[in-house]
Amino acid sequence: MSQKPEKATAEEKQKRKRKRKSKQTLTRAVTHIRLLEANAGKLEALDQLVAVYLPLCQQYTTLFCEPETGPDKYSEPAFETELSDRLHRVAIQQAAGIAKSWRTNRANAYQAYLDDLAAYVEAKAKAGAEGKLCSFKRSEPTWTEWNLPLLRVPVMQANANVVVVEPSTDSTFDYWLRISTLDKGNPLRVPVKLASYHKKALAGNTLNTSTTLSKRKGVWWLTLSFDEEIPLQTAPAAPVVGVDVGIANFITTSTGQSYGTFHGTLARKHRHDRHKRRNKAKLRACLQKKGVPKAQLPSTSSATGQRLSRHVRQEINRAINQVLDAHPEARIVYENLSVASMRFHARSMNAYLYASQLGHLPEQLAWAAAKRGMAAHTVTAAYSSQECPRCHFVSRANRPDQQTFHCVVCGYQAHADHKAALVLAARWGDQALAACKTKEAVKALLLQRHESWKKAQAEQNTQRVEEIGPALQLSFWDGPERFLEIS
Ligand SMILES: [Zn+2]
Repeated sequence: MSQKPEKATAEEKQKRKRKRKSKQTLTRAVTHIRLLEANAGKLEALDQLVAVYLPLCQQYTTLFCEPETGPDKYSEPAFETELSDRLHRVAIQQAAGIAKSWRTNRANAYQAYLDDLAAYVEAKAKAGAEGKLCSFKRSEPTWTEWNLPLLRVPVMQANANVVVVEPSTDSTFDYWLRISTLDKGNPLRVPVKLASYHKKALAGNTLNTSTTLSKRKGVWWLTLSFDEEIPLQTAPAAPVVGVDVGIANFITTSTGQSYGTFHGTLARKHRHDRHKRRNKAKLRACLQKKGVPKAQLPSTSSATGQRLSRHVRQEINRAINQVLDAHPEARIVYENLSVASMRFHARSMNAYLYASQLGHLPEQLAWAAAKRGMAAHTVTAAYSSQECPRCHFVSRANRPDQQTFHCVVCGYQAHADHKAALVLAARWGDQALAACKTKEAVKALLLQRHESWKKAQAEQNTQRVEEIGPALQLSFWDGPERFLEIS
């Protein structure tokens, strides 16, 4: 069994940090390489292997998703298996990876639910205080516990300990795969032939040692990967451009431009698709009532829906490329939002969001920036839509409608998305804010900053009052609009 590597020393960490500043490494995958059936039944050994491997990997995945354990790829073996120690370790590592991302996604979704619940409680209390409870229509958010991940597709994420890629000396094939199987000491050797587009993707690059084998519809597939080092182009003093993600505009920058939208063509197509699916569902229900067997019922999944999804993805990618083209010298700063929280906060826009996959925009933005050697960073998203960039006052009341930001204290007014992008840009390098672990901590910090701002303003105005004389009111906190006119 492989041992947990020694902890890196401070010096090594520093060295790595320096390296990271000059270039970034992108790991690229070359997918859909079909494993050839060299002779009848050769891949049968692989089938037999995965029949043991997958259930073991499932056991560890379930274990690592339990609240009381953690996904540790170096954890001690917990289950008996006929697999070799090396294959056993690979199964543990794969399970740890799956569990880790499942736990992160679930935690994000749960946090989004808690935030939503808190907002609901607050709104209800406010309605109660104003005696408007009878007209309070919002329904209480609910939480449905997530199912544990179920491994359905046979997949093995391997390393060089169990799968070795050897260049072929024979011109008929490009590589040989040497795969450890249940038959210890007798690895399986499978030839690999690359298509021309695979060769093109791999040209001039050195393969790394991680490989993935998966079986879909009776065919075994191989995924190879390689690391590409891209020099970082962004200068240390590069201007920071904040990026806000939304529906009306996919992307709005702190420089005031917006890119891509779900309104117009996409929304029309989406409505059309939803209409079609509803009709199909009605027909299905009707036929089912009449006793038509399930297998003969028309499917509700639609080809137009898939086309639409693809179209939305393309539009998002286009918007991302436009932003990066327009700001080649900039350091991009964006919010760390998740698909789950995007969906949760959307409410009436839920259906739109579902189709729009906007929650994936951040990772696509990060990837596109990395490919260009541009620096891109995430910052805390909490309250970025409610915070006033001038006085740091945080309130839902600062948003009279979806498009507008209007601070109820200092009167600052701007387009809501543009303002959010400005706030995000300002959060880059804000260490006090980055240190906040919870939304509550963020709110407390912003409130503190608002108090300091108020104090500074009051001092300034006391001075001014002394200069101008006592004719001006000092009690401007009761009427922020009046204060605005003074300043
Ligand atoms: Zn303000």
